[in-house]
Amino acid sequence: MSNLQQRIQQIEKNIQASCDKVGRNRSDIHVVAVTKGVSSKRTKEVMDAGFEHLGENRPDGLMAKIEDIPEEVNWHFIGNLQSRRIRDIVDHVSHIHSLSRTSIAKEIQKRATYPVDCFVQVNVSGEASKSGVSPEELKDFIESIRHYDKVRVIGLMTMAPDIKDEAEIRSNFIEMRKLRDYIQGLKLAHAPCTELSMGMSNDYEIAIEEGATYVRIGTALVGEESEGD
Ligand SMILES: *Cc1c(COP(=O)(O)O)cnc(C)c1O
Repeated sequence: MSNLQQRIQQIEKNIQASCDKVGRNRSDIHVVAVTKGVSSKRTKEVMDAGFEHLGENRPDGLMAKIEDIPEEVNWHFIGNLQSRRIRDIVDHVSHIHSLSRTSIAKEIQKRATYPVDCFVQVNVSGEASKSGVSPEELKDFIESIRHYDKVRVIGLMTMAPDIKDEAEIRSNFIEMRKLRDYIQGLKLAHAPCTELSMGMSNDYEIAIEEGATYVRIGTALVGEESEGD
């Protein structure tokens, strides 16, 4: 078995164990394989292994991969988004995880030819270095983009703080789930907000236990390019 297959098997086991622990169905969780750090060749192998959701965080990286891999797959844009780059990517992606400014919504509205499933990025940890809407501003922000019919707010996304303290990471995820439930409860037509994008290589198991429906797993799944497959 290749290293890639071994990593995938381990992750599957971990995901199933987290699901079992809290009584969730494995089928409710989508794995976005984050391929930003590896070649198109490795990315293709990941796709061939059965992953239907691939994530990239830079417009140039995304476009290069799409060129190399013309097959039908869901491309997720997960990185910081500059308004001027939206036109390049918007019709190539199924999901955008980093909606955090009105100017981005406006540009998606202008450039997209179909409605894009978006996650509003929330800075729940309050770290100055992180982008995202603050929990306090979230409701107003989502209401402010209701007229943009090319932007569907299907859920919320966060990046946990890069720390070892599991309890603190967990409390961030719990907070996210409450925010998701709150927005979902508003029953806004443009923001069904049923989904939660949270959890990366180091914390996807905690995220699943706390309700993640999309986990974004990079290195733990795709490995590092320097290591061989
Ligand atoms: C790189 C990245 C990931 C994946 O990170 P890993 O730690 O490699 O799993 C997930 N989400 C975002 C937004 C990223 O930029």
